[in-house]
Formats: sequence, C-alpha cells, structure tokens
Amino acid sequence: MQHRIIVIGAGYAGATAAGRLAKRLHGEDVAITLVNAAPDFVERVRMHQIAVGQDLRPRPLREMFAGSGVELRVANVTGVDVARRAVTVNGAGAAGAGTEELPYDTLVYALGSGWNTQGVPGTAEHAHEIASRPGALRLRERLAALDAGGTVVVVGAGLTGVEAATEIAETRTDLDVALVARGELGDWLSPKGRAHLRKVCGKLGIAVHEHTAVTDVAADRVTTADGASLPSAVTVWATGFAVHPIAEATALETTGTGQIVVDATMRSASHPDVYAVGDAAMAMGPGDKPLRMSCASGVPMAWQAADAIAARLTGRKLPSTAPRYYNQCISLGRKEGIIQYVTADDRAVKAALTGRPAAFYKEVVCKGAAWGVANPTLGIPARRHRVEQPQPAPAETPAEASA
Ligand SMILES: Cc1cc2nc3c(=O)[nH]c(=O)nc-3n(C[C@H](O)[C@H](O)[C@H](O)COP(=O)(O)OP(=O)(O)OC[C@H]3O[C@@H](n4cnc5c(N)ncnc54)[C@H](O)[C@@H]3O)c2cc1C
Repeated sequence: MQHRIIVIGAGYAGATAAGRLAKRLHGEDVAITLVNAAPDFVERVRMHQIAVGQDLRPRPLREMFAGSGVELRVANVTGVDVARRAVTVNGAGAAGAGTEELPYDTLVYALGSGWNTQGVPGTAEHAHEIASRPGALRLRERLAALDAGGTVVVVGAGLTGVEAATEIAETRTDLDVALVARGELGDWLSPKGRAHLRKVCGKLGIAVHEHTAVTDVAADRVTTADGASLPSAVTVWATGFAVHPIAEATALETTGTGQIVVDATMRSASHPDVYAVGDAAMAMGPGDKPLRMSCASGVPMAWQAADAIAARLTGRKLPSTAPRYYNQCISLGRKEGIIQYVTADDRAVKAALTGRPAAFYKEVVCKGAAWGVANPTLGIPARRHRVEQPQPAPAETPAEASA
C-alpha cells in the first residue's frame, strides 16, 4: 500500500517540501498530495510591490507541479484530526464541491501566517495589511484612490514595515509617508546598515517616529502611547505575523502563539507522524534561538522536513545540516536595498552591502526563491528511494499460540 503524505499549504515552505519529497521517494510507494486554498503560488515577500501597483508573474500551482508526482488539491483546510490522522478540507474535489476528509500517514503542516493586529483597538476595522495577497490588493486600491498630499502611516519598522514604507514613498512621491518604530530605526542592523536605512528614509521624505507605540487606530489618524495623534488617511499595520488558529485547535503541542513545536527534523514534539515547517512551526535554530518567521527559515525547514521524512521511510541516515542564517535581504524600493550579513543565529555583523547592488542582490534572491518553488522537478537531482515496507509480525510458534 502507498504511504499517504499530505502537505497542507503551498507557500514557500509547503510547496518546497512537497517538491523535495517527490524527488526523494519512489512514486510507486508514496502518494503525495499538496493542498492549498488558492490555485496560485503567492510570492508573499513581494506583497508591498503589489500594494503599490506592480504586477507579479502568475504562478499557477497546477502548472508548477505537473509531472512532478505531486497531486494538487485546491481546497480550504478547515481542520486536522491528529488522532484519526485526517485533514478536513472544503473545496472542489473528485466527489464535487463540499467538505471532505483526506486521510494521511504523514502530515506536513505549512499553513503559514497572516497579519497580527496585536489586539490594538481600531486596527482590524481601519488598518490595512500586506501579509496576504487579498490584503495587499485592498491596499493597492486604497492607495490608488488617495489624492496627492494624502497621509500614510506604516506601523512597525521591522523588515516588512521598512520595505512597505520605502516602496510606497518611492512610488508615490506625492504622498506624506510616515514610519512608526517602537525602538530606534533599524536597531537590529549593523551601524553601516542602520545609517543607510536612515539615509534612504530621509531621501524618500519618510517621517520616522522612533520610540513610539501606536495604541489606537481610527479612520483618519493613529494615536500613540504618549497621547499624540498622527494624521493617517491610510494606516498600514506591519507589526509581525500571527499563525492561523487551526493547529491550536488540535491536540498538537503548540506554543502560546499557536505555532507547532517541532524538533530538529521539523517533526512535531507531540505527534511523530506530523511535521511542521515555515511560519506555522516553532523550531530552535543555532544558538538555541527560535527560527524567525521568514522565507529564509521556511525553505531550509522544508528541506529538513522532507529529507527527514524520506530518511525515516527508507531506513536512511537523518539529515545533519541544520537551518542557519547568512544574511537579511531588505528592499528599500526598487533602486535601493541593504544586505545585512549575519551570524548563523541571525545577529548582524559589521559588513553590509547597500545601494543599487543590494537592490539587485535582493531581486536575485526573491527570483531564486520563487524559481526553486516553481520548478520542483529541477534543482537537486532526483534520487527516488524505495520505502521500507513494514515487516509482517513473526509467526507465532505453536508453544506461544497455546500459551
Ligand atoms: C511584505 C512581506 C515581505 C516579506 N519579505 C521577506 C523577506 O524579504 N525575506 C524573508 O525571508 N521573508 C520575508 N517575508 C516573510 C515570508 O513571506 C513568510 O515568512 C513566508 O511566506 C512564510 O512561508 P510559509 O510557507 O510558512 O507560509 P506562506 O507563504 O504564508 O504560505 C502558506 C500557504 O498556505 C495557504 N493556506 C493558508 N491557510 C490555508 C487553509 N486554511 N487551507 C489551505 N491553504 C491555506 C496559503 O494560501 C499559502 O499558500 C515577507 C513577508 C511579507 C508579508
């Protein structure tokens, strides 16, 4: 009988895991199904580009996985029953539209994340998000309708907030763009990276509010912890990501924020037939620090999970190279960027690449990540090993049988 592997979520992590599993395991021994809510692969790392009106190349999952040995199901995952080993999906299937259960032997959970309002009043009602394509498209419409002189406040000056503010300011030079940072702007970067970020924000006319926390969002302004008010016709909320609540509703061990706790092979700490990768998983990285929610973590996590699943099913050695970091690639609009080199555990070192070469480098990284996902049959050579079949229980001896 074929071993049934279901991968839920076809973002950077899930799609990478599915493609790699198909290259590692013999098609006669496994049935790999990839379930995703949307028919396309979404380059989430480019959502700020969508928001300012740039168009991305469509990447239909069905075309990407044609001939790869992975069966695609476009459906919404509504639940996972880890006791009965089944995923509940809602969408068009072989039996028509409706709810269906997909049984698995091994599950790879990769549903990613969305925006995190952090419960700040007014955020859900009035702010925009760029963590998802629908959110980025709504922001695009809103920005397009905004007249010259309109105010935009980007709340959160981490990687996503910095990329959003600079992209908007570069494209819409007629708007007043502000960026709100909880601490000092770019405080996680090297002095060179930090100085460059400040310089580019200055050049683009972005008003930076440091050491500021937003405590309330209204339709036309945001209020800060010290009671000040910043005019904001459009508020973009970029204070981090939150995972979808599906994992938390299962018996899987999760963190307080709903991420699935996994070991070094991305296997669930509580359920050995479940693996989790990407934003949905909490894995420890170098220096015993949790891997951060990023594409930079999600892809190596997916390689690790796929190789571990294949190793366990085929009786081979487990992978021994753990995910680590090399750099943080930050776009500052289309013409500027920062490549901040980091230690294995993601701390900035002195060296950083800036300016146009950094913008070019970042573009190559984004293209490379999408290419890797979109070409599951290329890249690493396929070595499709046979799955070890479970040995039948030894026959009882007459003495045991009569005991
Ligand atoms: C604007 C922006 C810029 C970023 N820039 C960078 C960057 O420069 N570098 C970097 O490393 N990271 C960056 N990130 C973070 C990065 O995009 C995420 O960490 C990464 O996408 C996580 O990958 P994932 O596969 O875990 O999740 P996702 O990419 O979110 O994929 C999850 C998939 O699951 C599907 N899904 C979700 N729920 C369901 C459901 N119920 N049923 C079926 N399918 C479902 C989704 O449709 C999606 O296809 C950026 C993010 C944003 C928003």
